[in-house]
Amino acid sequence: MTGETRELPPAIELPRARYSGWACVWCGASLRHVLAVPAGRATGYVGAHDMSTEVSQCPPGYGCEGRSPYIKEGS
Ligand SMILES: [Zn+2]
Repeated sequence: MTGETRELPPAIELPRARYSGWACVWCGASLRHVLAVPAGRATGYVGAHDMSTEVSQCPPGYGCEGRSPYIKEGS
């Protein structure tokens, strides 16, 4: 536990880009041209298939970690 970890959405509910780590798992911003930060492992199963995958998030100063229009840490 790092203390900074938010609970990730289920892997099977992630849009393709977020599932593949091309987009921020939280806000959906494209991460193709920035240095993405590992967000952890989203887990999920479809039948017997483990769909768990490593997902990424915005680096500091970009997307939801920059202006934070969608997510506010703390209160
Ligand atoms: Zn983001």
